[in-house]
Order: sequence, then C-alpha cells, then structure tokens
Amino acid sequence: MFELLERQETAQLKEAISAANNIVICAHKSPDGDAIGSTLAWKHFLQQQGKQSVKVCYPDATPDFLQWLPGFKETLRYDRQTIQVKQAFNNADLVFYLDFGQSSRTEDMQTVLDTCQAPIILIDHHLQPKGNYLLQASFTQLSSTSEIIFNLIYQLGGYDNMTKACAECIYCGMMTDTGGFTYNSTRPEIFSIISLLLQKGIDKDNIYNKVFHNYSEHALRLRSHIILNKMNYIENLHASYFIITKSDLQKFHFIKGDLEGLVNTPQLIKGLKLSISLREDTEKPNLILVSLRSSNGFHCQPMATKFFNGGGHADAAGGKLHCSMEEAEQVTIKALLAYRGELEKN
Ligand code: 5GP
Ligand code: MN
Repeated sequence: MFELLERQETAQLKEAISAANNIVICAHKSPDGDAIGSTLAWKHFLQQQGKQSVKVCYPDATPDFLQWLPGFKETLRYDRQTIQVKQAFNNADLVFYLDFGQSSRTEDMQTVLDTCQAPIILIDHHLQPKGNYLLQASFTQLSSTSEIIFNLIYQLGGYDNMTKACAECIYCGMMTDTGGFTYNSTRPEIFSIISLLLQKGIDKDNIYNKVFHNYSEHALRLRSHIILNKMNYIENLHASYFIITKSDLQKFHFIKGDLEGLVNTPQLIKGLKLSISLREDTEKPNLILVSLRSSNGFHCQPMATKFFNGGGHADAAGGKLHCSMEEAEQVTIKALLAYRGELEKN
C-alpha cells in the first residue's frame, strides 16, 4: 500500500526536490478544496525537507470556507499579485502542477506557466494530462490529488514526521473531492489513509463543519431559490439542469463559493443520471460556466468534452460556453437529446 511510484520515479522525485532551491506549486483556476488542500500539504512537506522558498500560486480567488487551512495566508493570487507570481515563476528551479493536467486550466495564468523555464512535475488525477513533464504522477483512479500527495509523502518516508497542519490539508482535499466520502470513495486505501491522518491529531468532524456548514444566510437562500424556482427536471431522461443568471446572483449578494456543490443537489432525486448547472460569469460577458455530475450508470465527461469545451472526471466534469444564456440552454438541450438513448434507459 502507498506505493504509487516506481522505484526509479521515487528516486527521480527525491533528486529533483533535493536539487531545487526555489519551488513553485500551482493549481487550476477557481481552486477547490482538493487544489488548495493538496498544494498546501505539499508545501508543508517540502518545507520540512528544508526547502526555504516554496511559493503556492493560484490563478484567482479561493472560497472563504477554505481560507482557514494552515499556510493559506502566504499563498499568492495571480489576478491580484501578478508581479509576485511572475517573479516566483521566473526564479523557480522546480515547478509542481497540482490538481490539473494541462496549463490551459489556469486560464489567464497560462502564459506564465508556458514560458517558465523550470522543469515541471505533474501530480494529478484528471483524465488525459497534456504537456512536457520531468515526471508525471498522474493517477486517474485516485479520488483526489490530496490522496496522491499522501501517498508520495509516505513513499518518500515523510509520514512519521508529518505535521497535524499537513494532515489537515490532505484530509480537507480528500473530503471535498468525494463530497464528504459519499462518492468516488469506496477504495479501502482511502480509509487506511484517513486512519493514518487521524493519528496525527486532526479533528475530522471539525474540518467537515468548517467546510460544509459555512453558508451565509444569503447563500442558503440563493441555493434554495435555484432549486425551487430554476431547476428543470426532465423525468423521462433522468436529467435536470438549472440556469443561474447574474440577476439571481445580485439579488442574493453572491460571493465566490456560495454555489459550490449545488450541482450535486438534484442528484438527491431517485434515479437521476445527470445534473447540469449553467451559470453566467459575474465578470466576463457572454461566458457561461458549466458543471456536470452523473450517476446511476451514466458518465458525463464525454458530454462535457463534446458540448461544453471542457472535461474532468467520469462523473464530475465541467466546461464553459462563450455565448448568451439562451444559446447555452439550446446547447444543453441538444446535449441531452444526443445522449437520449443512454439517459432514457431505466
Ligand atoms: P466543477 O463542476 O466542480 O467546476 O468541476 C468538476 C470537474 O470538472 C473538476 O474536476 C474540474 O477539474 C473539471 N473541469 C471543470 N471545468 C473544466 C474545464 O473547463 N475544462 C476541463 N478539462 N475540466 C474542467
Ligand atoms: Mn481534485
């Protein structure tokens, strides 16, 4: 157990870390619990290895409910601290990509990644990674990047000295990417890892509370409004989709994170195979953000790729459309009809 890398790869990772002085760790746009948990856990570990300069860089804003994570305060945001992020990449002699498999997932930050001269190590669990990497630790069968990080730290002999702070970050990432261990989480290894994290003194119930019981009143009302008034349920297709406009967001004083995971809620309907969320971007006009979730034998990833310029995991995918909401709804209906055969089946 906990032996993901081949012996030669482990040696290569060790060597790369030991040779590096200025390390950058980055994650995808709109970083989630796994992106933030895994990057911070990896930073804690690298600092313990004596690395003085380890900078964690995100493309943009992070949800409020993750900002308590140990080490978060020192992270950099490209949209706000552009110069510092560029400097970090310029000075880097080793870069880690965590929780994404292609530089385009960092959007506005992509050119900084693509022009960086330092060797890159990929640590990720998304399908079909692309790019030139010194080492590619890509494990699509694992539930989260944070789970991979645990394995790597263990393999590098870092478990005994793992701090509570590092264990909290790993737990948070594993917990959020599996919806509190309710999907994608039947592999026994996951629970062996949780047991080892608990031995580091983490309070898992408290972490759950801090992350999932953290809505503002406005956020709870916004979420209820969407389900009550905006959800379209197509019974014969076992599918649902909802549309969130800027005016919905303004009415309920939306801030980033308020709608996190709402796309999972229609899946509470017995037998639902597909849930789609379409949301207008708050800043860019004609940009529709799309989230897809699937269950009961249907897999939404191909639909995300074909119809929504995206991708992701088999049952949790996303994408975006550059058009009006009316056009986005038409695309969604087309997508549903294209998969009608599979969706209709009982
Ligand atoms: P979410 O619905 O939580 O935003 O995203 C679900 C999954 O789809 C995540 O694993 C995320 O990485 C992936 N995803 C979201 N947006 C995109 C996208 O634009 N392109 C690709 N390739 N994957 C995406
Ligand atoms: Mn992830």
